[in-house]
Amino acid sequence: MHELSLTQSLVEIAEEHARRAGGTVIRGITLEVGELSGAVPEALEFAFDVCSRGTLAEGATLTIRRVPGHGRCAVCAAETVCHELTAVCPVCGALGFELDTGTELRVLELEVD
Ligand SMILES: [Zn+2]
Repeated sequence: MHELSLTQSLVEIAEEHARRAGGTVIRGITLEVGELSGAVPEALEFAFDVCSRGTLAEGATLTIRRVPGHGRCAVCAAETVCHELTAVCPVCGALGFELDTGTELRVLELEVD
């Protein structure tokens, strides 16, 4: 499962940040997950349960913030939501569409004790 390795590295990042902040327990992790990142929130939650066992993040509350896909077309200058990973503008059909949000998958906030 794709989400397992993703979550594993997210937990590692969270632990590293927590240690650097002098924390011993991670109470909460907020993830930013783009609609087009390919990660399924339910699968991330499941993977987190598995991956956080025995780490500083064990028992932490996982909050997932979904980020909708959005981009801008370099050809017609349209700015619009986008529900697929594409370079084709949904408005004019030209190959010049650039996503500015929707592909992120990162640790947004950490609550550490
Ligand atoms: Zn366009």
